[in-house]
Amino acid sequence: MAAEVINGTGIAKQVRGEVAEQVADLKSQHNLVPGLAVILVGDDPASAVYVRNKGRACDEAGIFSETFNLPAETSEDDVVELVNQLNGDARFHGILVQLPLPDQINEKTVLYAIDPNKDVDGLHPFNLGRLVGGDPIFVPCTPAGVQEILVRTGHDPSGKHVVVCGRSNIVGKPVAMLLLQKMKGANATVSICHTGTADLGKITRQADILIAAAGRAEFITPDMVKEGAVVIDVGINRVDDESRKNGYRLTGDVDYVRVSEVASAITPVPGGVGPMTIAMLLKNTLASALRSVDSKLR
Ligand code: NAD
Repeated sequence: MAAEVINGTGIAKQVRGEVAEQVADLKSQHNLVPGLAVILVGDDPASAVYVRNKGRACDEAGIFSETFNLPAETSEDDVVELVNQLNGDARFHGILVQLPLPDQINEKTVLYAIDPNKDVDGLHPFNLGRLVGGDPIFVPCTPAGVQEILVRTGHDPSGKHVVVCGRSNIVGKPVAMLLLQKMKGANATVSICHTGTADLGKITRQADILIAAAGRAEFITPDMVKEGAVVIDVGINRVDDESRKNGYRLTGDVDYVRVSEVASAITPVPGGVGPMTIAMLLKNTLASALRSVDSKLR
């Protein structure tokens, strides 16, 4: 039987609509407009598209946003100086540094310079630590989007075996930590697989919920998926496609067509997890603005 196709675009639209309503309330009740600063270093075309989309989504939700474009040769010190300025700029409740950064800049040095209270990407060690401790403030956007998809589609992870393929600090580790917590929308038994995992298929076949976040085009094949599993594809990979005008197409980490025959539900790429990442960024920016007026939330 063909799997239910999870409409991430639709769920993201719902979340963005809810954020817009709360932003309007915040404006009318506290005369406060949430603000997001985005730092983009260099001219990577994919990053430029992501940043433009984030700006548009902010506009639509009534969130003020400003992008700070820095040339590719900017020094690490100059990026950190800008972060420090933005930390002290009350117009901004969130600061996002678009990754990857050029080679001369250490990503961690820049991310660690962000005020944890404005770290709406949730990648500062303070926020990652709060997540591990079961008391998160800002959850990284893609993991938060994965959880939101599961909850809103009625695939509650509680009591399920979730297998995550990938152990990056941005996706794999935080999504595993999030779904492991003893809290609503989580409480799963979690396994994390990576490049050092022996017999990957043996582990993935045990998954009730399989989360693919390895950055390997279509590497999850049907023989690696248990009948009836829910498959969440985080991967975004460019593969050559001469039939396309731009010469490539985007594909996930899952062999979508064939795995759809085995899974009970599956996210497509594009249109699955991707749109959720931006929606959760808006949600985190709103939450940060709310925290700035309500000290009890701190
Ligand atoms: P990454 O390269 O930092 O990490 C990939 C991880 O996968 C590594 O931990 C590695 O150990 C593991 N891995 C690689 N090959 C493997 C294999 N054959 N078997 C098992 N594990 C393997 O990537 P990332 O930043 O975590 O991103 C992962 C994917 O998700 C990429 O395709 C990226 O483009 C995509 N992504 C999507 C969104 C979104 O909004 N949908 C956001 C972030 C990343």
